[in-house]
Amino acid sequence: MTTDEKTRFAGVSSGFDLPELEHGVLDLWEREKSFDALRKKNAGGPRYSFTDGPITANIEAMGVHHAWGRTYKDLYQRYKSMQGFDQRWQNGFDCQGLWVEVQVERELNLNNKRDIEAYGIARFSAACRARVDRSASAITKQSIRLGQWMDWENSYFTYSDNNISHIWHVLKLCHEKGWLYKGHRAMPWCARCGTALSEHEMTGSYKEMTHTSLYVRFPIEGRVAESFLAWTTTPWTLPANVALAVHPDLDYARVRVRADGASAPEILILSAAVFKQTKWHDAELLETFKGKTLLGLRYSGPFDELPIGAQTKPGHRVIAWDQVGEAEGTGIVHIAPGCGAEDFALSKTEKLPVVVPIDDSAHFNKGFGWLEGKEARDVAHEIAADLKARGRLFRELPYTHSYPICWRCKEEIVFRVADEWFISMDDLRPKLKSAAAKVRWLPEFIGRRMDNWLDSMGDWNISRKRYWGLPLPFYTCANDHFFVIGSEEELRERAVRGLEGLQELHRPWIDDVVVACPQCKAESTRVKEVGDAWLDAGIVPFSTLGHITDRAHWEKWFPAEFETENLEQVRLWYYSQLFMSVVLTGEAPYRTVLSNEFVYDENGEEFHKTGDNFIDFQAKAPRALEHVLVLRDLREPRRVRSE
Ligand SMILES: [Zn+2]
Ligand SMILES: [Zn+2]
Repeated sequence: MTTDEKTRFAGVSSGFDLPELEHGVLDLWEREKSFDALRKKNAGGPRYSFTDGPITANIEAMGVHHAWGRTYKDLYQRYKSMQGFDQRWQNGFDCQGLWVEVQVERELNLNNKRDIEAYGIARFSAACRARVDRSASAITKQSIRLGQWMDWENSYFTYSDNNISHIWHVLKLCHEKGWLYKGHRAMPWCARCGTALSEHEMTGSYKEMTHTSLYVRFPIEGRVAESFLAWTTTPWTLPANVALAVHPDLDYARVRVRADGASAPEILILSAAVFKQTKWHDAELLETFKGKTLLGLRYSGPFDELPIGAQTKPGHRVIAWDQVGEAEGTGIVHIAPGCGAEDFALSKTEKLPVVVPIDDSAHFNKGFGWLEGKEARDVAHEIAADLKARGRLFRELPYTHSYPICWRCKEEIVFRVADEWFISMDDLRPKLKSAAAKVRWLPEFIGRRMDNWLDSMGDWNISRKRYWGLPLPFYTCANDHFFVIGSEEELRERAVRGLEGLQELHRPWIDDVVVACPQCKAESTRVKEVGDAWLDAGIVPFSTLGHITDRAHWEKWFPAEFETENLEQVRLWYYSQLFMSVVLTGEAPYRTVLSNEFVYDENGEEFHKTGDNFIDFQAKAPRALEHVLVLRDLREPRRVRSE
């Protein structure tokens, strides 16, 4: 240290300039190569293995909330280095998936998948890679300014062929164990992104919204002027109705009412408890009975006159469902298996037809008559008007509720039946639970949260119908043999053509590689889907340590002594790593996990890179330092997000 620096650092009490002090320290480290000296001193010492959770390389500027998490990482690694531990100091970047794609679409002014395909997938992938590289270099610069010590030259990127190849290896194992399957399922679906979303992408992504809700008459076959009354908040699903569900043990009422403006009274059936709360004039209760007496009654559907009616009509009966309640609606639930997960499950047990009304951009399919080609979320009023003209609409009311939105583009979600790839969790669940139980979770409730998540999670939907992501290595030959390629090496061995254009393991180049079927040698092509981005981050404890390329190195550093991330990573990164690790080793990839809370602003809102409350951590005179930043201490969180 020079005398000048000593004076400067010592003079902190008399009106010192904090940023200048920091620059002084950074200059000193740079000049004396302090970080290199530390690494040299500790090389060969006892190991302290830290795995860095990859930061999404999708931002130009870090916020204070990013800086906070990075500070924990720095603190622990420095402390351990002062104790003489040898460390890897590897930083990571998360580089693929919807989050990058959505930003690049905005940059390029592309509005949907058709626009991307017209622009060209090769150019689009190149733009995604360029954005990631730009962001990674900005984050690196800002992290150095923050004072974080890492081996910045050696950062890992989840878009690397090495990372992809390691995931392929796990997917092949899953296939060999019989856990991989293609499922026809009702999934939450983003129409703008044109893809299904997984269960863990849905938690937390809800918004208060007002929709048009409809009370609709479903005339009972063989009775005069007598209808079931059902209620829906998603009018676009009515043309796909195939059944009505009642609770067999609840009380239902048969009532005579005269609707507003009607010339003659009519008879309606609805829940007795709901009827009691209505303020209908001149309504007369005729009788009450249990829901089970209604089972099997047939009705005429709301859109039987459309061509699709030929497919929905064979349903159109009353079924039993013990999830029907009286808290909302009429106690009679409209069932459309092509539009909802629970409805779809009922179609299996009740043998109901499954009619899928909308395509992957949420526009009505062929067979839906005047609705064909219209956007599902735009037709509520037209559907109401049409039902009204045909005497089917009893009432139309605005309804405000908490409704799911796409976590990336914030569009309202629809539900849709589609073919997706899944990993079955039934065999894995107990293994994951016992591996998680051996981890030291800090604070302890994080461990309970993981245990709850493992209990409640369904099969993992790993496919996305998108572009910039892990290409799923699933192939089918002309003779319908299905197989999974387990590494880049295996791809090169099996390839019969297309390798010359393969500059990286991404779309569109990977799609041109034709491989030979291991069973019959017939030519085989890849499925079009890419993988869930959490596969990319989950493989990091293996890919960064060369699990399939340098086993000795991997053995030296696995598992990590320590990881630290935000607590929402329980169902995301901690989970996806645990999954990979249990498949490959049977053990957890980390021994101790420390989770930090969100950073909240003065209104109790989380800081978020897309929110209005974003504070650039490099800003001069940051709001944060004055009076805004609220760091809640780590107690059981007030707002429970995922349970
Ligand atoms: Zn979306
Ligand atoms: Zn074959």
